[in-house]
Amino acid sequence: MVLRCSLCGSRAFTRVRYSRLTLCRRHYAEFFERRVKNTVERYRLFKNVKRLLVCVSGGKDSVAMLYALKPYAEKSNVELLGLTIDLGIGEYSKCSVEAAVEAFKNNDVEYMLVDLSAEYGFDLDTVAENVEKLRMPKGVCSYCGSVKRYIFNKVALDSECDAVATGHNLDDLLSFTLTSMASGQVDLLIKLQPKNRGVDRLVTRIRPLATLTNRETLLYVMSIGASYVDLECPYTPERSMQKTIVEKLSEIEHKYPGFKLALYKSLLRVLRKAEVKTGPLVHCEKCGMPSSTRICSFCRLKSLMTERIGEKTTETRVTARRV
Ligand code: SF4
Ligand code: ZN
Ligand code: ZN
Repeated sequence: MVLRCSLCGSRAFTRVRYSRLTLCRRHYAEFFERRVKNTVERYRLFKNVKRLLVCVSGGKDSVAMLYALKPYAEKSNVELLGLTIDLGIGEYSKCSVEAAVEAFKNNDVEYMLVDLSAEYGFDLDTVAENVEKLRMPKGVCSYCGSVKRYIFNKVALDSECDAVATGHNLDDLLSFTLTSMASGQVDLLIKLQPKNRGVDRLVTRIRPLATLTNRETLLYVMSIGASYVDLECPYTPERSMQKTIVEKLSEIEHKYPGFKLALYKSLLRVLRKAEVKTGPLVHCEKCGMPSSTRICSFCRLKSLMTERIGEKTTETRVTARRV
């Protein structure tokens, strides 16, 4: 028996179990876009935002965010500026940047490309090479995260954006939260929220896909036929606590549709009552950006890596290239 869309009777594309709806491609895409819009409205993600930096890596999540957000941003008079970073991870970065650029062009969004190596004198391949050699205290992904956060913030400041949007989805936020709790890093829990208000020179962060799962996001890019990079980064850890948590949560979600969202909303309520605060910020002595230490983690990494390469970078200031 051919399954039919509950709304129009066309051939079914997927079933949204917690809503008890069977939907065709078009109605699934509309359903997803409505969920993004509801998240933006419910958590007031566009409050005081006139210009928004949309960070797109080329992966399915950030590509989905851009496509789903664009029409609503236009209606809300929020101007979008795109950003993608070439991290210098061989073929993976090349394909990621291509997918991001295609998404910006298809959505008619002006964008910037920051080439990590050209701007700062090192790339992620160099970091990965040295993590073991120098017995650096963290894994490659942790340094990669710090590089991305730094550049997002710097470009947002330089281009006068009021907020930065990233494509973190519900699975990312839940797994990150539970990992932080398990390792006793309770102050990181505030990153669970769909919105973190900016302080000092830290620009406001918004996560429009906060209530949508990995699977829902993947189905959305498939439903609209958007291209995204489907290569896996060579530095993705084979096993990690975060991955295991996502797998286990997905098993529970399968048995009890809606579990992830219910858990997320409850955690947000707990977080609101707990008043978790981050530590005080100072200004990095090298670049002037807000930091919890005298020299920020990005500047420390940059110094270490450029020493290893034996080259001198020209300056710390971001001069993002427009293409
Ligand atoms: Fe960066 Fe790790 Fe993601 Fe690769 S897998 S892009 S190194 S965070
Ligand atoms: Zn339909
Ligand atoms: Zn710094």
